[in-house]
Amino acid sequence: MSNVNEGRREGSLEAPTRHPLDWKGADFYAEGPLFKELERVYDICHGCRRCVSLCNAFPTLFDLVDESPTMEVDGIQKQDYWKVVDQCYLCDLCYMTKCPYVPPHEWNVDFPHLMLRAKAVKFEQGEIPLRDKILTATDVVGRIGSIPVVAQTINAANQLKPVRQLLEKTLGVHAEAPLPRFESNTARKRLAKKPARTVSAVATPETTGKVAIFVTCYGDKNAPQVVDDLYEVLCHNGLEVQIATAAQCCGMPKLELGDLHAVERLKDANMAQLAALVATGFDIVAPIPSCVLMFKQELPLMFPEDPQVLKVKRAFFDPFEYLMLRHKHGLLVCDFKQGLGKIALHVPCHQRVQNIGLKTKEVLELVSGTEVTPIERCSGHDGTYAIKVENYAFAKKICRPVVKRIEDGSFDHYLSDCPMAGELIEQGVERPAAGSAFALLRQAYGI
Ligand code: SF4
Ligand code: SF4
Repeated sequence: MSNVNEGRREGSLEAPTRHPLDWKGADFYAEGPLFKELERVYDICHGCRRCVSLCNAFPTLFDLVDESPTMEVDGIQKQDYWKVVDQCYLCDLCYMTKCPYVPPHEWNVDFPHLMLRAKAVKFEQGEIPLRDKILTATDVVGRIGSIPVVAQTINAANQLKPVRQLLEKTLGVHAEAPLPRFESNTARKRLAKKPARTVSAVATPETTGKVAIFVTCYGDKNAPQVVDDLYEVLCHNGLEVQIATAAQCCGMPKLELGDLHAVERLKDANMAQLAALVATGFDIVAPIPSCVLMFKQELPLMFPEDPQVLKVKRAFFDPFEYLMLRHKHGLLVCDFKQGLGKIALHVPCHQRVQNIGLKTKEVLELVSGTEVTPIERCSGHDGTYAIKVENYAFAKKICRPVVKRIEDGSFDHYLSDCPMAGELIEQGVERPAAGSAFALLRQAYGI
């Protein structure tokens, strides 16, 4: 290592400080200062190497170092810096679970946000394949894909090998990667048909008892049953439930692309309704951990001065975090009718980094005759990473330990708290997963 100062404080017990993302600062998009910072942080990582097994970004970096003429970071061609950036899917695990050099440590390493800055610079330079722009336009793709007949046609076509091979050749979507199904009977349509209920919401110090569901693009158009099950579980627990009808994409896919201006546009589109819901006493939940993380962490770090963003952040919960907060005050209905047996539960990275503990496990284990084994490893799916032709093999490799844990245990059910991660895991396990934790809870309630 050449530019890091040995002997500084490491392994501090202080909580990490996450600095806001200075994405409107003068130097943010300038390639020179970016490369300087990449070289500084790559050098620290090369001397540390703790994260080698987390994802493919770090092995890519360490291979570049080991193969460079100097066997140091200064021997890597600057153009090769992008190879590391391309392998990061912003799961945040290196920052939240491994790195001893995060702020307040003076080395100030925030690897995921440095990768995000690099992605943003690359996006501004216009070097983004058409495929990536299409895959991250989840609102538009979902709207078209869920049109009746179109949905059925796409779903049927996605099963055909020649179609998938063509898609791989023309668009770079791997022919074997699991693609989500489109549903014309969307979550919004399903919930609109539910009979009206009158509920007097009971508040606790942490929750209002009134819940708005941010359905998410994926929940609405690809996995509406998950939203339906979440809705029924919340209603069964005496909560006043409605959906955030005007919600658009949370912006996570555009964040992963580095298109920060699109993130801002989506934030502006969502905040008016979400902040109004919070103002009228609603808390908010979403069935996809990445979307929850977007409102709890990424938007507040991008817009630390925006009062609506901060107001929504405080009211946004993981659904099982919310149920456990209600349980603390005896307000979770525990009239379970049947046990669920042994469950393998994959805990997605974007839920782990919320630092809320294993709330899904805690709720499910309130059902007698239920034992939950959490699997806290990356699935490798990570937004659109796994379906890209150049990444699919890496994603399968990352997913393999999760699949093995499930196959090695004798579980009655297995599932992931992220339905997208669940699809890649299911492809490896080759027996059907259990829908969602909301579906299991609904089964336990007999509703
Ligand atoms: S954020 Fe996740 S994918 Fe990116 S470098 Fe860190 S561990 Fe790897
Ligand atoms: S991100 Fe931190 S823990 Fe991971 S390799 Fe770099 S310096 Fe080490």
